[in-house]
Formats: sequence, C-alpha cells, structure tokens
Amino acid sequence: MTAPMTRSRLGLVLGDQLAHRPAVMRDEPSDFPLLMIEAPGESTHVPSHKARTTLFLSAMRHAAEAWRAQGLTVEYISLQDPGYQSAPTFGERLARWLAANPVETLWCVEAGDLRLTLEIERACASQAVHLQWLEDPHFLLPRPEFSAWAQGRKQLRMEHFYRFMRRRHAVLIAPDGEPEGGQWNFDAENRQSFGKQGPVGIPTPAHFPPDAITRKVMQEVEQVFPTNPGSLEQFGWPVTREQALLALEDFIAHRLQAFGPHQDAMWTGMQFGWHALLSSSLNLHLLEPEEVIDQVVAAYRRGEADLASVEGFVRQVLGWREFMRGVYWLEMPGLAKANGLDAHRALPAWFWTGETHMVCQSQVIEQTLAYGYAHHIQRLMVTGLFGLLAEIRPQELSDWFHAVYVDAIDWVERPNVVGMALYANAGRFTSKPYLASGAYVDKMSNYCRGCRYDPKQRTGPKACPMTSLYWRFVIGKGALLKGNPRTALMAKQGERLTESERDAILAWTDALLGRLEEI
Ligand code: FAD
Ligand code: SF4
Repeated sequence: MTAPMTRSRLGLVLGDQLAHRPAVMRDEPSDFPLLMIEAPGESTHVPSHKARTTLFLSAMRHAAEAWRAQGLTVEYISLQDPGYQSAPTFGERLARWLAANPVETLWCVEAGDLRLTLEIERACASQAVHLQWLEDPHFLLPRPEFSAWAQGRKQLRMEHFYRFMRRRHAVLIAPDGEPEGGQWNFDAENRQSFGKQGPVGIPTPAHFPPDAITRKVMQEVEQVFPTNPGSLEQFGWPVTREQALLALEDFIAHRLQAFGPHQDAMWTGMQFGWHALLSSSLNLHLLEPEEVIDQVVAAYRRGEADLASVEGFVRQVLGWREFMRGVYWLEMPGLAKANGLDAHRALPAWFWTGETHMVCQSQVIEQTLAYGYAHHIQRLMVTGLFGLLAEIRPQELSDWFHAVYVDAIDWVERPNVVGMALYANAGRFTSKPYLASGAYVDKMSNYCRGCRYDPKQRTGPKACPMTSLYWRFVIGKGALLKGNPRTALMAKQGERLTESERDAILAWTDALLGRLEEI
C-alpha cells in the first residue's frame, strides 16, 4: 500500500466561522482544501440545547455546500461518520483525520473558545503537524489592539471602550469629533416598561422554516442527543448567509424603530419583543458586525429610525460585543475559575425544566427551552440575577447558559455570565453588581401579577424569593456595596434595617436557600 500524499496546507474551519468566503483563505489563492468537523463532544461537554446543535450543524452543512459550489474543496467529518464513532471530541476527530491524511501545516482562524483552542493544539502536536493560527477578521478590534487599549487601566469600563470604538470606526461621530446628537448615551430614553396595557403591535420576526438539510440534522440530533434539553418544534433560525441578511432586513424594516425604548421590558408570553434576533447569525459569522452597523446607521440617515434606538443598538454590537470578546481573551483562563463572591450552591434542577413557582423564572426558562433564546434583560435580570442572589456556583450557571442559548459561544457567554451577571471577577470589567429585588421585575414586566409570591414582601410564605435574597445580599455584602458609588444607596438601605429585621431576613433566607428546589 502506498502512503498517502502529504498536503502542504490544510485550512481548518470551525463551526462558527461560516463567512461567505472562508476567513482562513484571506486573500490567498484558494488552492488548498478545507476541513470541517462535526463532533458530538461539542454538544455534550455541556448538554447543548437541541436547537443550538441543529443551528450549528445545519449552518455548517449549508456553508460547506456553498463553498463547494464556489469551487472549493471541503473535506467533512459528519456527526455520525462511521469512521469516527470512537472519537467523540473535536480534538480526537482532528487527530484521527490528520493521522490518515498527512499535512505539513494546518491553518486555522483563532477559535472563540480556549478549550477548543487547546484541543486543536494538542491534536496537531500529537501528529507533528505545524499549526498556524490566523487573526479573526470578523471582529472590529484585533485581540492585540484590545490588549493595548486595556494596558495600564486598573478597571476596564465598557463606556470608555465604546467611545474609543465609536471614534476609531467613525460611527455616529459628527465632523467635530463629538457624538452625533450631542451625547454618547441614550439609556435614559431606552429603559421603558410597557405600562399596564402591555406590548402593542410587536411585528412577528422573520422565521425560516427548516429545509431538507435542516430537517435531516434535526433527525440526527434527536437520535444522537435524545436527552439533551430543549425542543426543535419552533426552530426557525437563519442557517445561511442569505437568510441572515433577510433577518437583518426584517429587523431594520420592522423593529429597529421601537428597539430602544423597550429593550429592557418583559411580558408574559412575549419571547422576542423588538429585539434584533441577530446574535446567532453574527456569532456564526453569517453576518459581519460592520455591515450590520452600517445598515442600521443607514436606516437612521434615511429617517427610518430615531437616534436613541440606533445608538442603543450600535452600543450593543460595536460596544458590548467587541468588549466581551476582548475581556474574554484578557481574563482567560482565570475567568473560568473566578468566584469572587464565594458562591457554592448547586443550580436548582428546575433550571432544566422551568418547573418553579417563580413566574419570572419559569417564563424565561420555558421560553429558553422552546426557542434557545431570551433577551438580554431576561438573561441578566431574571435567571442571571437569581444566580447572583442564590449564590449559585459561577461555573455551573455559566455551563447552563452555554448549553441553552443558540448564540452561546464561550467568548461571549462566559464574560456575560461570570463577569456581568454574577460579578464573580471582582468587577474587573463591570462597574457594579447588577443587583435588584423583585421590585425591578415587577416594574419591567407583568410576571409578578400571575405569581404566588409578592415582590414587596421579604419574609413569610408569600415573600418573593428575589426580594428576600436581595435583602440578604444587601446585609451580607454591605461593605462591597458601600465602597461603590453606584451601589452605596443600597448599602444605606441595609444599614437602616433594625436588628430584628436583619435577623428575620437572615433566618428566612437561610431556610429558603435550603429548599431552592421547591420554590
Ligand atoms: P439585541 O438585544 O437585539 O442586541 C443586538 C446585538 O448586540 C446582539 O445580537 C448581540 O450580538 C449584541 N449584544 C448585545 N448585548 C451584548 C452583550 N452583553 N454581549 C455581547 N453582545 C451583545 N450573547 C451572545 O451572543 N451569546 C451568549 O451566549 C450570551 N450570553 C449572555 C448571558 C448573559 C447572562 C447575559 C446578561 C447576556 C448574554 N448575551 C449573550 C448578550 C445578549 O443577551 C445577547 O447577545 C442578546 O440577547 C441576543 O439577542 P438579540 O440578537 O435579539 O440582541
Ligand atoms: Fe419573580 Fe418575585 Fe415577581 Fe414572582 S413575585 S414573578 S418570583 S419577581
């Protein structure tokens, strides 16, 4: 038998690198083959929502088909490939493929997950293959430049970074270098609830019915991961660039105008509101952040959307998204172990079913299991806040978020959960703990109206667990809150409690924390 020919170069394309032209090819002549790998381990290291796995695999298969139609050579290891059943992880599959198909240099655009990066490095080392990492052109700020921006800053603040990015990319900047509209931030206009009448006239977002490729993936996902969480009944996420562009067009035409004012509001049975639903397309690189920002700003120039909504949206994509990616690489691997508030409680089992009497939690979790989606405030101020107040182990809550959202990739999920929602890395890149009682949920939604608990009560059988645990936090973490001007008022509220009130709250919440599974 003759030994297989050694290829001088192979491009490895990861499941979230599905740009129209594979980024690993850059401007090089496209005369080297690509390799794509579906690995069951990617859906089991945390038990991935069936919709998340379906989205990734379907989008990968569509991208491979599109690239082959462009004349590229794509080698593909599929989920149930008979030659790889005993190699479930990405790294094992890569090593096995390299052992059978010698390669001098493997080129790969930097991964969005440190765990996967290390797996790829180990697989290449095991086969003596040279690995060439390439910068990811999808992001608007390369990693070394984020590090340069961060250098010498004691605390990293999104607001400073956002202004730097607005100026650097000349987005909504007037000729005198100042922000258009005279201010950087329209948050004050952008935090409205729906009022008593609830949301009115929210347009139904674009839905993309599964085609033959997606239906085949769905069957495989049900077969290979029958016990993974989530349902596929509602699956309608964009799986191609064409669909992602339609989703962007749909958002700009129908929801951008009202995006700003109601971006924090929640309502029973309302899954999407005026949100963009673009995170999965952006994170799979079906859309580029630059084109999304350009099109949203163009809508403003045409007079189709107010500055407050447009700035609110730009802040998310140019600000938060790039910032989270920057801090992920700066703070890893420490972020994976961070537990600054010393939280050691297990995640209640109802996070996987939604079966709790707390209506806010059940609404968000049930919606998440149905769609693989919840909007930012549902994640931050409902499930995330519960995790903070109930002292859930950061890594356990982070695994849950990684598992259940279709847009979850480590670079964006982990800093949002560990840093932003749980304040577990001592405020390195958030200005304060995002802390509130049931009163906030009551103000921003109608969830409390249908709940057996009362957001105003802090002890007793009708006491809202969010409220009880908020007061426990204020009592227990008073020094932390006092030292920060943005939370000092909360610390003061705690100091005003009488000793017997404090004792009653602590005794009540000691018991509450002992029966989290039943609340
Ligand atoms: P919109 O609200 O319409 O916002 C527009 C876009 O801005 C989003 O598509 C997204 O790309 C970007 N964006 C907004 N906020 C953030 C943010 N904080 N960080 C990064 N990008 C942002 N986003 C993910 O993409 N993947 C995650 O795994 C993820 N996990 C999160 C976990 C927690 C605890 C929190 C608080 C936030 C998380 N986010 C995550 C950020 C945000 O909630 C989602 O990006 C957003 O809900 C996606 O829905 P959308 O496209 O309708 O966003
Ligand atoms: Fe949630 Fe408390 Fe409101 Fe019930 S009363 S919905 S637990 S905030």
